[in-house]
Amino acid sequence: MAAMSLTFLGAAGTVTGSKYLVDLPGRRILVDAGMFQGEKEWRQMNWADFPVPPSSIDEIILTHAHADHCGYLPALVRDGFKGPIWCTYGTAKLASIVLMDAGHLQEKEAQYAQEGGYSKHDPALPLYTVADVEKTTPLFKVVPFDADFDLGKGIAIRMTRAGHILGSASVTLSTPEGSVLFSGDLGRIDHPVLRPRGTPPGSPYVLIESTYGDREHPDAKGLEHEAMADAVRRTIARGGSVLIPAFAIDRTEIVLKALTELREAGRIPVDVPIYVNSPMAVAALAVYREAEGRGELRDDIQPEDFFNLPNLREITDAEDSKKLNHPDHPSIIISSSGMATGGRVLHHLEAMLPDKRNCVIFTGYQGVGTRGRSLLEGMKQMKFRGRYVPVKAEIVSDGEFSVHADASDLIDWLRDLSPQPETVFVTHGEEGSSDAFAAKVRNELGLTVVVPRYKEKVTLTPHGTWAPLSPVARGGAEAAAAELPPTPRPVPHPPSLPHTPSPGAKFPVRNVADTHADDIDEIAVILETAIGQVPFLPEEKQAEVSELLHELLGLVRGESPDLGAVREGVNLALYAAAGAVETPGGQSIVALLAHVPKVLG
Ligand SMILES: [Zn+2]
Repeated sequence: MAAMSLTFLGAAGTVTGSKYLVDLPGRRILVDAGMFQGEKEWRQMNWADFPVPPSSIDEIILTHAHADHCGYLPALVRDGFKGPIWCTYGTAKLASIVLMDAGHLQEKEAQYAQEGGYSKHDPALPLYTVADVEKTTPLFKVVPFDADFDLGKGIAIRMTRAGHILGSASVTLSTPEGSVLFSGDLGRIDHPVLRPRGTPPGSPYVLIESTYGDREHPDAKGLEHEAMADAVRRTIARGGSVLIPAFAIDRTEIVLKALTELREAGRIPVDVPIYVNSPMAVAALAVYREAEGRGELRDDIQPEDFFNLPNLREITDAEDSKKLNHPDHPSIIISSSGMATGGRVLHHLEAMLPDKRNCVIFTGYQGVGTRGRSLLEGMKQMKFRGRYVPVKAEIVSDGEFSVHADASDLIDWLRDLSPQPETVFVTHGEEGSSDAFAAKVRNELGLTVVVPRYKEKVTLTPHGTWAPLSPVARGGAEAAAAELPPTPRPVPHPPSLPHTPSPGAKFPVRNVADTHADDIDEIAVILETAIGQVPFLPEEKQAEVSELLHELLGLVRGESPDLGAVREGVNLALYAAAGAVETPGGQSIVALLAHVPKVLG
């Protein structure tokens, strides 16, 4: 009998870079294609040749949209991968936003490295480009939750809710050669926004994440988010501002919800302006709004909750964004990335860290080697663009925002599986965390547990294979149609955040000359993100909107673009996309394009 093998190509010995290769006779499947982040020795692996030719991979299955699970996809596509990328609807939408942002950042970083002369390559190279991302997003194929989905030749997958971020799933893969369950990242039992995770069908082989495998989340003693509320109160009282690094998709929404509740309860000052500085959050908010129609949100959550936040200002303008660093009035700024590995949060940190009145509140897991981790560990100076700044601001962590299961949650997930696994592979954790969790599984559940090494290969046998239970859905198109909301809800609010001017937070008049380049760059990001949403338009609209957006992007990227022509191009594209505003793609594109005039001023 031909064997099935599993090779751990990432998230083994580290938290990032999730990639698991499943080899079957005549079939090669990759589960997740994450980017390595954090420590340099791992990040360098992003640049190494992929261990197998990407063109030899038949298909990819994606558990969720975090970059450490999907961020390497465009590199595989550039190097020859052409197959389908199976994932849930929410993952397809969020991943296209994440990847566009990543492609843009890669290009930017290469450009800075070139200009700053600190690149090892000459010319400096991006890991991949926006053009590579554009070839990637059309490969997403939607798979419904909780139904066995046929991949052909006796292979089926089932996606089960993982309760981690919107669209996140555990994946059970069934083949004639054996069956294996991938936990993906698992959420806590009580996610503030999403419906709780489900229990997938058991398999003899189970991979389980162990991000928090060595710890328990503290029981919320007394008031929720008191660490954050207290930090906000004392920072504002001493005349400082609060910076909250948060991932643009998922975390920003949850932080906003918490801040709103704190304000309504009178636990933080009511009149403090809150700024969301992330153009990506706009597109992500649109995805959350439609999610209600697909039953992914908790019953007590209204999508309007994400839009009706008083005193909230969204910043898409690069100059406003810089002015925030020296506000004439204390404020709260939410900006990405969440681990301060890149993005706009860096210039906020650079400007705000040297002032001891300010405060930085981290809201999630901070990987080894990231700026976030260094700050939490008490680093006294930090390097930005080749220059050191002192760290005098207060650094706080609010652990209650975690969207990862803790050790007990992980044990519960394993215990609920039926049948129980024969072998458990503990992945996606730093060494201490994975080892501690493996010991716990051995002691409490009596199972065979392994912490695999990077690139370790194991053989799986057909013994105890999970057989698909429910009727198997065939073909991607039907399933995709089944997963889409039958009738899109009418849009209850304008597709942008309310711009409530806040007392005392006036921005000085902008100096057009020195903001021009940044604004143009900002518009390019918005257009690239919009292009990533094209596959979510009805097919008959895709070519027209895509062409208009590309034309516009070409215009924006040219030498001293004519702003009048840009406005006109935006109007044309808006008009075309508005014709499909009842679809998720149309909504996102309209929401994004509506910001361009604001950036142009
Ligand atoms: Zn994740």
